[in-house]
Amino acid sequence: MSISSDLQSHTYRLRLKTRTHVGGGPQARPSIIDLKVWRARTGNGEDKLAIPSSTIKGVMRTRFENEVRRKTFEAIKKSYGSLEDFLYCFLKQFTANVMNYSIDSLKEDLKKVIPKNNRLYSGYYGLGTELPSFLDLHDEELSALVSVSVYDFFPIICDPTSQLSCLSDKDLLGISENEMTMFTLLLQIALAKKLPFSSETCTSCEIFGANGLISAIKVSDFIAITNIPVIPVQARISVDRLMRAVSQAKLFSAEYIPEDIEFKGRIELMRRVPYLSQLDSILDNLANLIQRVGRWESLGFGEVEVLDVMNRDDRFIIHVIRSYIDYYKQNFENSVKKVNFILEGENRDKIINAMNLGKSIIEKIEEGLGRS
Ligand SMILES: [Zn+2]
Repeated sequence: MSISSDLQSHTYRLRLKTRTHVGGGPQARPSIIDLKVWRARTGNGEDKLAIPSSTIKGVMRTRFENEVRRKTFEAIKKSYGSLEDFLYCFLKQFTANVMNYSIDSLKEDLKKVIPKNNRLYSGYYGLGTELPSFLDLHDEELSALVSVSVYDFFPIICDPTSQLSCLSDKDLLGISENEMTMFTLLLQIALAKKLPFSSETCTSCEIFGANGLISAIKVSDFIAITNIPVIPVQARISVDRLMRAVSQAKLFSAEYIPEDIEFKGRIELMRRVPYLSQLDSILDNLANLIQRVGRWESLGFGEVEVLDVMNRDDRFIIHVIRSYIDYYKQNFENSVKKVNFILEGENRDKIINAMNLGKSIIEKIEEGLGRS
């Protein structure tokens, strides 16, 4: 069970199942069309219909994160009862054992900071202004916490768009200089998103990249391989989201690419990700996550399928999480040794306490996933 070297790079075709609009890019030539579809400029100056690499990588990442979060959420519910119970348990231990606060009225206050809903993993929910005071954090440097979401308190995986997204190991060396950096690192470690000096970032940042950490995969633009003599244009009406009414004089024209058109591009694995190297067909299963691209999803635009996927693993996400858990447990003691060797004083103690909390959460998640 290992990746064979011929799987380091793979060409895929992508077929549009519905009409699609991926816009943006250089609008080199003046046009009477308001929203043009994206074109890649080729070596000889010719523009070709394409889906940009950033879009392909972006949809892959978002879907990967949502799936990992969903599976983790299910495991949390099995182990802790509910997400609210998990957060209560986590925040209580985090404040007491890592940050050295004691919060007595935690359960009562928690209801104020966590909005009730049952679709947590499919949307973005801010915890709002209550959180910093709730955590007894008054320092101005922690004002960023006002905009944190429930996702920031999910174990294993970070929210790359958040202020509290993954930081690399080199940030550990300057922790005493900045309180926000310190808080972010402690939170990441306590939620098992990071194992100091063994696993720098969460599973998603490890694959798709983070601040100071280059992405493990590289994606090319996907260029149209079907010839389209004329690109269709549709008149659309802009709807004012606030008024929920048709705005005055907001008719605009948009190009779209019709269904059944095929594109071709390449996905490459650039470096080894420790807990992925145990899995077969990583590229196939990452490519398989691409099912939607572009705008107007609610109108049925942008459904796609990736062809040339040879090995589809329906339990790929579970396997990724399990491999991460195994890797985390195997490297935990060694990581503690490294922290003890490299860091010192109160900061070292806080990091070690956060690691112990992280390990207990990893074990609970493993329990929730079950062994099948
Ligand atoms: Zn991350």
